[in-house]
Amino acid sequence: MQNVAGSLYGLAYGDALGKPTEFQDYATIVARYGPGGPRELIGRPALVTDDTQMALAVGEAMLAAPEITPAALEPLLRQAFLDWAVSPDNNRAPGHTCLQACAALSDGRPWQQATVAGSKGCGANMRVTPVGLHPGLDEDQRAGLAQLQAGLTHGHPTGLAASELTAYACWWLASGLAPGDLLAALRERADSQRKTYREEWLGALWQQPGVSTPEQFIARGWDETATALDRVRDALAAGNYAGDPCLATGAGWIAEEALATALYCYLISPDEPVAVLGRGAASSGDSDSIACLAGAFAGASLGLDAWPAAWRFQIEYTDRLTHIAEAWDHGAELSANRG
Ligand SMILES: [Mg+2]
Repeated sequence: MQNVAGSLYGLAYGDALGKPTEFQDYATIVARYGPGGPRELIGRPALVTDDTQMALAVGEAMLAAPEITPAALEPLLRQAFLDWAVSPDNNRAPGHTCLQACAALSDGRPWQQATVAGSKGCGANMRVTPVGLHPGLDEDQRAGLAQLQAGLTHGHPTGLAASELTAYACWWLASGLAPGDLLAALRERADSQRKTYREEWLGALWQQPGVSTPEQFIARGWDETATALDRVRDALAAGNYAGDPCLATGAGWIAEEALATALYCYLISPDEPVAVLGRGAASSGDSDSIACLAGAFAGASLGLDAWPAAWRFQIEYTDRLTHIAEAWDHGAELSANRG
């Protein structure tokens, strides 16, 4: 529970800290909060954005699924996204792609026809972390579901690849991978998956204009994501971490940059989780999405106790976050006892 909860809460904390800064430029943020960015939750509850809301939707769809298969998950994810779309709480600057795709999903058409095929917005991966944190998935389930939940709204291959790597980053960190080994592990996976199209999960999504094979479709996504990871490697090696992180690794409005800039913000100081959140929130780009993913990584590695204890009772949706964490903790215990 420590690390699942640590990551889910870390996501929500980063989201809440980045909420007021998402549409501010870097100078304005620094003038208000200092170069370390916002580091205190504001309000009771401290409100999150669509990033956490949609991550909860993904997690709750997984909780409701009798088994982790495409047939079981697709209708549950669809319904969870549609419920989110019409919720009165969906007033937190939701992404355009998600709203557009949900409108199309609502008439029951196949998701491959409802998705926004050309969009690789970070809405694909800002919500994927529950897939990474579920303790009982095999490799195909983790990769396939990470891509399916992305594809329902964002059909671009880079949204799929970046979502899978975002899930894997959480999974590996929660499983004890040293933060210093994370970037190379992700880069290796990008290489190894370059020709793997998960047809059972994605169906005919690859059939887009100008694309002649499934492998060609998915390779583009892995290549773009690998390039973004290389930027993180180079920025970390450069060793100058002051200033707007978006200048180093991208603004984060698109999926591979949200992953990259969140990794950059996290890997600068993986043992200082609140500093990680402040750094992500003090960014000129998609601050809430960058900070939420950076917080999910830090929490997956360090666990719930790494965060200020009082935040747990201040953040919005604390009951729903805890429900998912406890359910998966219980599942992990059951499978450990069986094994
Ligand atoms: Mg948001």
